[in-house]
Amino acid sequence: MDYEVAVIGAGPGGLVSSLYLRRFLRRTILLSAGPPRASWIPKTHNLFGFRDGVSGVQLLKQLQGQLDDLGIERAVGQYRVSKSRGGFRVQGESGESFTAKKVILATGMTDVQPLVGNLDLLRRRGLLRYCPVCDAFEYRDKRIVVLAQDDHGLKTARFLSRFTDSIQVLWPPSQPLPMRLVKTCMREKVKFTRGILKSVVEPKGKGTGLAITYVDADQTQREMKADACYVALGITVNDFAFRSLKGIERGEGGYLITGSHQEIKKIPGLFAVGDCVEGLAQIATAAGQAAVAATRIHNELRAP
Ligand SMILES: Cc1cc2nc3c(=O)[nH]c(=O)nc-3n(C[C@H](O)[C@H](O)[C@H](O)COP(=O)(O)OP(=O)(O)OC[C@H]3O[C@@H](n4cnc5c(N)ncnc54)[C@H](O)[C@@H]3O)c2cc1C
Repeated sequence: MDYEVAVIGAGPGGLVSSLYLRRFLRRTILLSAGPPRASWIPKTHNLFGFRDGVSGVQLLKQLQGQLDDLGIERAVGQYRVSKSRGGFRVQGESGESFTAKKVILATGMTDVQPLVGNLDLLRRRGLLRYCPVCDAFEYRDKRIVVLAQDDHGLKTARFLSRFTDSIQVLWPPSQPLPMRLVKTCMREKVKFTRGILKSVVEPKGKGTGLAITYVDADQTQREMKADACYVALGITVNDFAFRSLKGIERGEGGYLITGSHQEIKKIPGLFAVGDCVEGLAQIATAAGQAAVAATRIHNELRAP
């Protein structure tokens, strides 16, 4: 075997897994296809230990530095896993491949994005929000618009209703509303507007919030004002690495189902951590799962 462990994905889940594995003196390779979801965090205020908050980029840089000190091997690109005798074969897009006894999937997920021209700018400036568990606290009693098109979006609106009485859901006119959930939301003072999003801009001048333009069912252009705009249009699990593996159990939304040590039950030696796993999509969760998976792997590799 070329490596004892291959870690696929270099967000918090993959980085913390690698950190533990290198500190257990395990021959580990860390594979990364591009910027992790964590790199879009403008500043997190719910991560323990950072009283003044920390940006996703800063946090990742610190973790990368810790790994550099431990002499981690890295490779860049999209990798996929297949079973091979005694472990796994991990293959890159350009055909290069290597073997590993164990694999940790830390591939994360991708948010469905709204169709607005200035998306990158809005994301970079933190003007769109993606994680109410992370930052609803910062928007207590503020005006919130939720971009939604399915149950996930309505659950997001419901979650936010504990923090403010001013929530507008913007819902596509062509999409039927799931009435049972809508009624629950309305009981919690959530309001509904049907329309197709056109733009989200931050008008000049401090404290004015966001201007959200949409076209309603009568083709009239209208505007809503908000202090925060949550994107809750759905997610896709990043499954390129394991799409072709047979025997993987996936739950609602395509998330991986794991056992209590983050193991994929029907595929011995395969583990998964972080946002690609069913559960709470948080840095703390990804890091905790990484610690559990890495320690389990270390113990399994020690076993005679
Ligand atoms: C705007 C925003 C704000 C957030 N705020 C907070 C917050 O305040 N607090 C908090 O706890 N959480 C927050 N989150 C959630 C947090 O970012 C995620 O929970 C965290 O990034 C999960 O880490 P991860 O390692 O599982 O996935 P990711 O960070 O997404 O990393 C996955 C990595 O895997 C790589 N990858 C995927 N497939 C392959 C492949 N086949 N080969 C190689 N590499 C691959 C991807 O390119 C990516 O780099 C926020 C998220 C967003 C978008």
